[in-house]
Amino acid sequence: MTELTLENVTKRFDDDGDVIVAVDDVSVEIDDGEFLVLVGPSGCGKSTTLRMIAGLETVSDGQIVIGDEVVNDVPAQRRDIAMVFQSYALYPHMTVRENMRFGLEESTNLTDKEMDSRVEKTATTLEIDELLERKPGELSGGQQQRVALGRAIVRDPSVFLMDEPLSNLDAKLRSGMRTELQRLQEQLDVTTVYVTHDQTEAMTMGDRIAILNDGELQQVATPLECYHRPNNVFVAGFIGEPSMNFFEVTLSDGQLVGDDVTFEYPLSASIRETLDSRSKLVLGIRPEDLEIVDRAETDHDFPAVINVIEPMGNENNLLVDFLETEGETTFNVIVDGMRHLTAGGRYAVRFPESAIHLFDRETGTALHNRQVENEPELLGPRA
Ligand code: ATP
Repeated sequence: MTELTLENVTKRFDDDGDVIVAVDDVSVEIDDGEFLVLVGPSGCGKSTTLRMIAGLETVSDGQIVIGDEVVNDVPAQRRDIAMVFQSYALYPHMTVRENMRFGLEESTNLTDKEMDSRVEKTATTLEIDELLERKPGELSGGQQQRVALGRAIVRDPSVFLMDEPLSNLDAKLRSGMRTELQRLQEQLDVTTVYVTHDQTEAMTMGDRIAILNDGELQQVATPLECYHRPNNVFVAGFIGEPSMNFFEVTLSDGQLVGDDVTFEYPLSASIRETLDSRSKLVLGIRPEDLEIVDRAETDHDFPAVINVIEPMGNENNLLVDFLETEGETTFNVIVDGMRHLTAGGRYAVRFPESAIHLFDRETGTALHNRQVENEPELLGPRA
């Protein structure tokens, strides 16, 4: 069942006479209990979208529906939602217990005993029951984050809204809290919209991710679907670290011909048929899908030089160039960490046809995505 719907939602700000369209005609349906991650570069409209759902910002056009109620004109405190902010926003003069109780006192008619019981139960779940009598100033960042979460959880809302809640934590704590938040969300089964610009959070936490750019929704799909079946060049480049490599090519006589390099890549008829007679294309391939071989043996191999090797332990990140245009066309290749290669060495780079993506250069739309084995199992039930 759908719990939260955004229907053609638009937000315009007036900036001294200039109109800024922060969110542009966004529509998405979020199921009951679903964890949706809203992701995109800085300024793409993530926080504004969340604030409209929360009722902290008015909606210029379109409507927001929670359950079966259109909430555009419902004040924030009457929407059945709880929000967790990056800044935690705890009251410094109140104890943890008082901070967690405060929202309940404001928004419910529970008795003192019921409120205490809810606060204590939530504190136990979050393992902060020992800290109930402390003030925020006496807590670490991670503990404050738990209290902020606790304050949202005790309210038992229909929807959680989270705006970069982990970004003030150090890397290790962040990864721990990521797992814990996911576990909690599953256990509580509350519909959640989670804003982040962190790739890892988007990929690992969401049932689905919604990718925004310039206020416009680019794709809403399972994380692996966005990774393997991006709708367009933007999604392809945004999801994945290091990013997908892109090369401008033109289809000519059944071959992809590089615009800047002598790159001639025979393309099978089955892929050519998907290209809708477009010839100006962008070829995309992920760093881990490129292969380094000793010398060019097939017509999908190209002489290359490895400029830089960054050993990560589990893998090596390579910065590679086509031999012919050394220094001008650097792209990324990831190989196994145990592989011995020499920086400055000459090899060949193989572009397996099963792994290439092709995009319309004019519109950025994906015309062909890579092959995926076991597609339904891998990409999720909605793919
Ligand atoms: P970040 O990741 O940097 O927080 P974001 O994706 O959350 O960015 P928003 O804060 O939603 O982006 O902002 C979207 C756009 O709307 C930006 O161009 C921003 O400058 C503009 N904007 C946001 N709030 C206002 C406002 N009150 N008045 C005018 N413009 C605003």
